[in-house]
Amino acid sequence: MSDKILTKENLPAFIEELKGEYEVIGPKRSGDMFVFDHIDESEELELDYPTTRLPPKKIFLPQREPLYEYEKKEGDVVIRDLRERWDKKRVLLGVHPCDIAGLLCLDKVFGLEYDDPYYWERRNSTVIIGITCKEPCEHGFCDAMETGPDAARGYDLLMTDIGGKYYLRPGSELGEKLLKADYFGEATEDDTRRRDAAIEGVRRKMKTDLDISGIEGRMKERVDDELWSEYTERCVLCGACNFVCPTCHCFTIRDETNFTGTKGRRVRVWDACHFKNFALIAGGLNFRGKKDSRIKHRIYDKLYYSKEKYGEFFCVGCGRCATFCPAEIDIKEVARKVQEA
Ligand code: SF4
Ligand code: SF4
Repeated sequence: MSDKILTKENLPAFIEELKGEYEVIGPKRSGDMFVFDHIDESEELELDYPTTRLPPKKIFLPQREPLYEYEKKEGDVVIRDLRERWDKKRVLLGVHPCDIAGLLCLDKVFGLEYDDPYYWERRNSTVIIGITCKEPCEHGFCDAMETGPDAARGYDLLMTDIGGKYYLRPGSELGEKLLKADYFGEATEDDTRRRDAAIEGVRRKMKTDLDISGIEGRMKERVDDELWSEYTERCVLCGACNFVCPTCHCFTIRDETNFTGTKGRRVRVWDACHFKNFALIAGGLNFRGKKDSRIKHRIYDKLYYSKEKYGEFFCVGCGRCATFCPAEIDIKEVARKVQEA
């Protein structure tokens, strides 16, 4: 597979070509933030964005997803599948390396122990075009988590801004096929040097002061450590960190019925392990009823259980939880304290 060059003047032509076959989703401005959304015109695309409010998981695991509806009719029950059908395959364009890593984590959750058909239907119908970041984002620490600022896998194409043009690296056969138009040029050795220098420049600016090596062992030793009490006091259990995290994937199932119970729908919605009733089970037992157990659980899920279960940390260093936490709890600082304690 060979790397290509796309001049910035030709980006609209590439978007138009993609739109012929795919629905294009990419980063777009929304007030003072950025969101992944449908792209009608190439001018809407904001490829220099720092990070989006919600990660691309919302495309594959929607925040609220009707599964089916039922209606009792003359002694019978009629069931109608409400699964969202896409008219076109999609291109998710402009995904940062940390979010690509987040999707690879979700693939393990929804593909290893059991296949979630709803997730995979969307995942298999989506082309991923990543982009390496031009600048470090405020709270990001992908360098410490080894999920950025470059990406080695998980994309069909990976773009890097090298000045007046984009460097395009295919990561799959499909990605390579997308580079057939005559407005793509061959990447020269000088282009490749500029790509590597651009990414190294971001890495040098980041230099996150966090050594994550061996943290799973330290986490194991510190289950009952005093350091957790500070976070238990500060956290207001809003669940924002769960919702904005590219790897948090918990959901609950709700049955929404009419008053007589003759009609209703079953809906899957995001849930958060910080919520009091998250671990409430039949019989009224709540195995994480205490606040401190819920605070610790999320951090352990990112930096310990995931490593044990899937072989990698489920924190990809995107920094969103620090950005949106009203109590200013930053998992990077928590990790640092665990390592230093
Ligand atoms: S735990 Fe925080 S920094 Fe880590 S991936 Fe989730 S939102 Fe990003
Ligand atoms: S965002 Fe902050 S305050 Fe809200 S649940 Fe997460 S850690 Fe607690």
